[in-house]
Amino acid sequence: MVYDVIIIGAGPAGLTAGIYAKRAMMNTVLIEKVGIGGQIMKTHKIENYPGYPQISGIELMQKMEEHAKKFDVETTFSEVLEIKDRGDVKTIITSDNEIETRTVIIATGTSPRRLGVPGEANFTGKGVSTCATCDGFFFRGKDVALIGGGDSAIVEAIFLTKMVNKVYVIHRRDELRAEMINQKRAFDNPKIEFVWNSNVQSIEGNDMVQKITVKNKITEEVTQLDVSGVFMYVGVDPNTGFINADKDNSGFLKTSPDLSTSIPGIFAAGDCRVTLLRQVATAVGDGALAAVSAQRYIGTLSN
Ligand code: NAP
Repeated sequence: MVYDVIIIGAGPAGLTAGIYAKRAMMNTVLIEKVGIGGQIMKTHKIENYPGYPQISGIELMQKMEEHAKKFDVETTFSEVLEIKDRGDVKTIITSDNEIETRTVIIATGTSPRRLGVPGEANFTGKGVSTCATCDGFFFRGKDVALIGGGDSAIVEAIFLTKMVNKVYVIHRRDELRAEMINQKRAFDNPKIEFVWNSNVQSIEGNDMVQKITVKNKITEEVTQLDVSGVFMYVGVDPNTGFINADKDNSGFLKTSPDLSTSIPGIFAAGDCRVTLLRQVATAVGDGALAAVSAQRYIGTLSN
């Protein structure tokens, strides 16, 4: 059997593509590697998805999953290893089987980037985390460090102040990348102390994290901070290693206005593509457009 569309990734973009594809009567399957929801499941509070002035990532994704189920979007769990382009038909090779389809929508999102400093790998799960929403609870009343200056870093630093004693936000520049509303909240929060122009050199401890060494880029001063936890928010890398379409230098897929990639019949939606803005609202719009573009592409095929 040959599907009309295979959607890879069950975050906001993939689930939306599934809803649109099923409502267009396309023979659809959604392939997910880990679990429904994607990275937004790690966000404790979303305030900029219209219709929900405040909602958690988990709750929003539960609603999207229910919505997709209502339209019988079939979901299967396995890892996509490769896509073979055979012209009008593509073969998706997964960890379990091979599936044929006329079109593919890649909605695989991103994964948290690692810093690569000594101690980071060894202490992962022992004080080093990429998810404050998941792990913040373990650091009640303690001092923690958080690395990064983007929206994820600042939103999660503010979240951590609800349970920890103090959050050192360590940023490599003297200005944040985060939205102004998030910056203001962080600057006004007495539990957040900014460590500017600084990089983490190492993470140390015995069984668990006990301290980090930080170097100021301008003064070259090296200091140690006693912390029990280190939260990494230094950006994201796209999950696009399995596909050979055109990408930018960071691996994000290049797309045309209809979200087609450089391979005819393969589309990209959401955070995994080159875009100016990575939000739930933009991912949802991408999912809708990619499904409609896939439907139109099928209309151009000979059979
Ligand atoms: P991001 O915006 O790319 O920010 C990454 C941060 O990590 C930057 O401050 C960057 O510093 C820093 N960084 C990168 N590499 C580093 C290194 N090797 N050493 C030290 N610092 C390093 O990533 P993100 O915060 O994960 O956000 C990803 C996307 O999701 C963005 O488009 C963001 O706007 C969006 N998002 C939005 C919200 C929201 O509430 N609106 C919430 C979460 C995420 P520089 O600034 O110096 O480059």
